[in-house]
Amino acid sequence: MFRPSYRTDDLQYCIAAGRREDSHEYAQGTYRLPVPAGVRVQGDYIQNLRDAAVNLQAWYSTALGTGETFTLASPTVAVYQTEHEASWYATTPVVGTDQSLWFWFNATADGFALTGGSFYDPDDIWIFYIDAAPACGQATGGAASVALLPANDLRGLAGEPTINTCTGAVEAYQGPCRWVGGLGHELGHALGLPHPAACEAGSPDCPTYALMWFGYTTYPNTYLTTADRALLEQSAFISDVKLPSKVPSCTSIGGSELSSASTAVLAMTQRTALGRGELRPTCAYRMLAATTQAALHASTATRRSAVAR
Ligand SMILES: [Zn+2]
Repeated sequence: MFRPSYRTDDLQYCIAAGRREDSHEYAQGTYRLPVPAGVRVQGDYIQNLRDAAVNLQAWYSTALGTGETFTLASPTVAVYQTEHEASWYATTPVVGTDQSLWFWFNATADGFALTGGSFYDPDDIWIFYIDAAPACGQATGGAASVALLPANDLRGLAGEPTINTCTGAVEAYQGPCRWVGGLGHELGHALGLPHPAACEAGSPDCPTYALMWFGYTTYPNTYLTTADRALLEQSAFISDVKLPSKVPSCTSIGGSELSSASTAVLAMTQRTALGRGELRPTCAYRMLAATTQAALHASTATRRSAVAR
């Protein structure tokens, strides 16, 4: 979602320059929203994604502390209708992969076919929201310069009930900031950020409320670690960006403001659960990164052997 060729002053939300100001590689970001066949796109979903993108752009700028952040393409959100029913993504086998990855590979493949994007696209980071639900245990998230977010994330941003994909039960209401934070976390993975090593190792030094661990649940009250900031400063997708004058607050997204009282209760519940070691991010970053790399190597090898023949 970063396309070259836009000039800074042409676009309301996108200002590029910075790291590569001597070249013409202006980075642009776009959120892509593939819609399964037969699904109607809600106008609110599009506005919510725009608001979330602008909110996160400002948050990253502050968290980096350098005036740098990612840029947004114009239009920021593009909508596509796919040829598949919503249930197809979770139920259609992908050759050579475990069932847990069917949703990831099916949905990203449709997204790439519609947009011309790819994993590790040198010009763009692609964020796909799809109004379809994975099956219980199927992975969504960010890796390989791409993030994929399912129906629950669209619903959460809109203040609609989210459904547990394993039990079918309606989940506790978490407010819109949780879903902006979730996007911020997956966008971090798409930009190349891993989970904090200490957290993955189960060390007591784990920065529990860093964005790349559990901070997405307390967003915007979270932060990038020193290692995250160092990595992003090397990213071609992070540059000096003039932020729009009006940045929407995450609490106002979807018109579903969570009262401060319920936020406090929610935060307390989360902290108590964390204290008991019950909660962990469900994000499957490491598996997605490893399996996507493997799939890309396999398809490159297939192409090479086809050429050799
Ligand atoms: Zn993650």
